[in-house]
Amino acid sequence: MPEWIWDAIDWVFPPHCLGCGLEGEIICPECYGTIKRVPTNVCPYCNAYVSKVGHCPNCANRKPAYTQFRAFAYYGGVVREAIHHLKYQNDVGVARVLASYLLKVIQAENWEIDLVVPIPLSKRKQEQRGYNQAERLAKPVAEALKKPITTEGLSRIREKASQVDLNVQSRRENVRGVFEAEPAIVKGKRILLIDDVFTTGATLESASQALRDAKSGLVYAVTVGKSDFNVS
Ligand SMILES: [Zn+2]
Ligand SMILES: [Zn+2]
Repeated sequence: MPEWIWDAIDWVFPPHCLGCGLEGEIICPECYGTIKRVPTNVCPYCNAYVSKVGHCPNCANRKPAYTQFRAFAYYGGVVREAIHHLKYQNDVGVARVLASYLLKVIQAENWEIDLVVPIPLSKRKQEQRGYNQAERLAKPVAEALKKPITTEGLSRIREKASQVDLNVQSRRENVRGVFEAEPAIVKGKRILLIDDVFTTGATLESASQALRDAKSGLVYAVTVGKSDFNVS
């Protein structure tokens, strides 16, 4: 849909701020100001704070299949509320706002990318929900970047594996077989992966591994939220 239609819808049905209820915007400037942005001096693999450029101690000995990951903000407050709306209310307006936040992160990095890939849901889950929230985020991002988007290049062949109590080695083995990538679509392409929340990083790790196994180029990843807790 063209942008002016959204402006018209906002004019007829003004949204209310998800943080404070104020009429006018989905996230008002005051609530935007309360968002805890992830700073730039963070570990490129997990976004843990680091005092100098480089990997955090937890990631020093691991090399995930993605090159760099950036989250927009810590999961909480109005960001949590917005992601919840995106996930369970099929709120396209919220998706557009969150996509504009992702663009701030992407444009601050100098990533060369060829293809935008939303993290897919399993077929069963997508049928239950009726849509994929990561795709809702990825579409306006791809449009703004003027890059193609694919929902066929990566598919989720099983629900995520439990990462609880797995050591690094078994965790690595465990990441294979969750996703499958289509070489005809991703081969040689530098990928921008998009998801709503980063929790353990297992999803990004599995998806990136599948893409690299299908001979994609480098994989970069962005999410709206970074959580230190298990969220579903
Ligand atoms: Zn507000
Ligand atoms: Zn790290």
